[in-house]
Amino acid sequence: MIRAPRGTFDILPESHQRRKLLESAAERILGAAGYRRIETPTFEATELFARGVGEATDIVRKEMYTFDDGAGRSLTLRPEVTAPVCRAYLEHGMRKLPQPVKLWYLSTCFRAEAPQRGRYRQFWQFGAEAIGSDAPETDGELIVLLADLLEAVGVRPTRLRLSSLGTPATRAEYREELKAFLRAHEEQLAGDVRDRIDLNPMRAFDSGDAGTRAVMRDAPTLLDRLHPDDAEHFDAVRALLDEAGLTYELDPTLVRGLDYYTRTVFEFTSDALGAQSGVGGGGRYDGLIELLDGPPTPASGWAAGVERMLLATSELPTAPELVDLYVALANRDGARTAFELAVDARRAGLQAQQELAGRSLKGQLRHADRIGARYVAIIGDNGVATLKDMESGEEHDTGVGDVIPEILRAGTRT
Ligand code: AMP
Repeated sequence: MIRAPRGTFDILPESHQRRKLLESAAERILGAAGYRRIETPTFEATELFARGVGEATDIVRKEMYTFDDGAGRSLTLRPEVTAPVCRAYLEHGMRKLPQPVKLWYLSTCFRAEAPQRGRYRQFWQFGAEAIGSDAPETDGELIVLLADLLEAVGVRPTRLRLSSLGTPATRAEYREELKAFLRAHEEQLAGDVRDRIDLNPMRAFDSGDAGTRAVMRDAPTLLDRLHPDDAEHFDAVRALLDEAGLTYELDPTLVRGLDYYTRTVFEFTSDALGAQSGVGGGGRYDGLIELLDGPPTPASGWAAGVERMLLATSELPTAPELVDLYVALANRDGARTAFELAVDARRAGLQAQQELAGRSLKGQLRHADRIGARYVAIIGDNGVATLKDMESGEEHDTGVGDVIPEILRAGTRT
């Protein structure tokens, strides 16, 4: 048997309903704030991600599905959607629209990661991007929108971590300062932290080693080194979140896996998830459009994983699927009449199905009951049908042509 590739999954009909609920919640919540939906291609020029996400990131170095298009061009299945949305913003001249341009998406992403619960190689992301505004209110709006979306679909309990990365220049200076600090305390650090001082000094903050933790209590943080403009911007974002009644934790060690972030960064996690606790996150990426050859354009956004949201919500209500009419056959002679009645019923706006499996009449009624049909019309001879109300059990004979009007008169369920 051929199976789906490792780390991928089928979305079966029974799980589709819960996804549709998430989609309509996103549509409602983001639409109300003026975000309009965009869909970009599944694959893009590899260079878009190499430049946009960053050559040095794990995503670009190890996790991309990259292939040759047969004509010498390198293409990549999108590992994220922010860079494609920025490409589309530039390609379609959206700079000329009133700014910021607010967009949202629901798209598949592809990353060659080691699969585990909540981590897949093809997964779905919701995302929202506001391009063309540097206002702290944009960051505040986006964070509150994601909080509202998580709340609306019942993702609980969530924690919000918040920080600011300042500018790339501040970050580079801070990195040198942190490296010097770590070197000065080298003998108190754990071996693996010491070995990684040059490669990844920020890792020292996550160490479980007691000696390292003691050293890190006095380590300089990036938040303490922000340029005054960036610090002011961050204070404004925090004040807005306080205003909106959102609780958050300041986490100066919050780093995200993509290089393009500047200033605000945030992440929502859920305790309902295991090791892969991140539900959604994002931040400001003021330099990205320029990296893609556009003019300096501030922007901010987030992405949230659909599968993680589904894992973290147990009770999404699912509505029963509706079947107004099941067209059954007393004998095979009625097959064409049954077909026509089912077609006409659908054209009249009813949910209608017909017998397709050669069941006995008893078997057809059992099947109609199982799928929750409200009425069954049993096609008999000479244009007569027996119309059975499956709720009350009442049944009577009527002309085939009267079946639809009778059901419509009784009113459809909503
Ligand atoms: P990122 O683009 O890495 O910031 O991820 C944004 C969100 O996408 C995360 O918070 C997760 O909810 C989700 N996500 C990222 N990678 C995966 C993956 N491999 N499988 C499932 N969801 C993912």
